[in-house]
Amino acid sequence: MVNNVLEQLTPDARLSRRKPVYNFGAGPAMLPGPVMEQAQSELLNWQGTGMSVMEISHRSEEFVAIAEQAESDLRKLLAIPDNYHVLFLQGGASSQFAMVPMNLATTDSTADYLYTGSWSGKALKEAARFCRVNTAASTEDSGFTTLPMAGDWQTSPEAAYLYYCDNETINGVEFGFIPEAGNVPLVSDMTSNILTRPLDVSRFGIIFAGAQKNIGPAGLVIVIVREDLVGRARKKIPSLYDYAIQSREASMYNTPPTFAWYMAGLVFQWTLEEGGVGEMQARAGWRSSQIYRCIDSSDFYSNNIDESCRSRLNVPFSLADESLNGKFLDESRKQGLLALRGHRSVGGMRASLYNAMPRAGVDKLVEFMGYFEKRYG
Ligand code: PMP
Repeated sequence: MVNNVLEQLTPDARLSRRKPVYNFGAGPAMLPGPVMEQAQSELLNWQGTGMSVMEISHRSEEFVAIAEQAESDLRKLLAIPDNYHVLFLQGGASSQFAMVPMNLATTDSTADYLYTGSWSGKALKEAARFCRVNTAASTEDSGFTTLPMAGDWQTSPEAAYLYYCDNETINGVEFGFIPEAGNVPLVSDMTSNILTRPLDVSRFGIIFAGAQKNIGPAGLVIVIVREDLVGRARKKIPSLYDYAIQSREASMYNTPPTFAWYMAGLVFQWTLEEGGVGEMQARAGWRSSQIYRCIDSSDFYSNNIDESCRSRLNVPFSLADESLNGKFLDESRKQGLLALRGHRSVGGMRASLYNAMPRAGVDKLVEFMGYFEKRYG
């Protein structure tokens, strides 16, 4: 069955007008070939208007139609219930590190955080500027190679919310389950794995995701927020950062990043046409299993993340002989396999495998890794 799924992965032919390269960067990441081609073809004259999407007013009938279609397609993709607002904001995913505590906590309340890697770490540091932060669990001792066992969390009885990062892009750790938060609103950073599997949105208070991996250009952040959590913001915050104002204004309190919003809409349409998030889940599983198999079947490559929580989207790996790192990067680049350098805080390599990565890119990387090991191992 998986084989049938694979036949549908974006064939190279559909990337024909792009350079034959595969970008394994963590983000901004490669976008689907057909989306880039459509954007190019209508860049100067969107639907016969004689204008680019970039040049039309966000309040125009045309742009409002784009915006509404994008929201409705995202609602369809993730089966978002009606009692959730969907916001298209700017400031990137990091804006939510501050907006979440500003909107859900007071200076005296406590927010629980699961500290599982760089991005949840950054989020909890930011939250500490706005409220009390309780690190309910941390996997720092393991070097962020595991996830905290649910029974071991030290949550606060009256927590304003429980926060976690569903996929730690830098460390390569992904939750395979939704943390149990009881009556406390659950907040999830899904920047690097949104749209890669079906989701029970009703389990969450807030889901947010920066766009630059599976959605579109950087700068845009999508926020899915349950309606009862809107309208609780502390008083002295900028209007821009108040979920209630942004919901009331349909994310157009000020001029939104219109082009990024339009691109996100094209990516949502592409995702629907390709079969939706169930299909994306099958592809993500296939892609990552190819790379992990290649790593695990060799002594030359290694990945030290506990198998139960290895990320399907970001696969960090090291070479046994680190002096070969430069050579690996040079040679892979020459083969059109780009941006494999690991994050500076972790070192080694990292292959990011988002929805737009075609099957051929994965095949080519596996082939290259095999060749490199034979040549230098
Ligand atoms: N969270 C996660 C999981 C990320 O991977 C990133 C960016 N790579 C961010 C947050 C921050 O995103 P931004 O740069 O858009 O603020």
